[in-house]
Amino acid sequence: MTIQAQVLEVLKTVQEETQAATILITHDLGIVAELCDRVLVMYAGRIVEAGDVLTIFRAPRHPYTVGLLDSLPKLTEDEEWLRPIPGSPPSLINRPSGCAFHPRCFLTQGRPRCREDVPELRDAEGAGHLAACHFSEELAGHQSKFSEPVEAGSGA
Ligand code: SF4
Repeated sequence: MTIQAQVLEVLKTVQEETQAATILITHDLGIVAELCDRVLVMYAGRIVEAGDVLTIFRAPRHPYTVGLLDSLPKLTEDEEWLRPIPGSPPSLINRPSGCAFHPRCFLTQGRPRCREDVPELRDAEGAGHLAACHFSEELAGHQSKFSEPVEAGSGA
């Protein structure tokens, strides 16, 4: 962890000094939250969601991203539940038909379209937020546990 923190600090410093774009490829969403401006979430070799980091963490619109965030602890609170994504990552040699996430997806409800059609990456809610899910509209209004709480009387 100490080495990781040092490496990340070096990356941050170099990025600030050179203003160069930096691409990080990681499974560690903590690193993503700390260092990244824009996020591409990949599943089975394809981009399934894209957006700015706050949007992705607060209002994900792809079931895989929802699952990733649900399975993370929020260290500032006592958590009564962590929900793992069921099943296992797919074989890239024998990729599932249609949407590769369908065998593990809570949103599919057995709908044939999920098994038959590969979903395109398309507009989720504007502002460059994209999701590759036939039914991402059904996640409209979904807030992750990393959303900011709306304060009473804030008018938000
Ligand atoms: S297209 Fe279907 S299986 Fe794929 S993420 Fe959306 S709801 Fe789930």
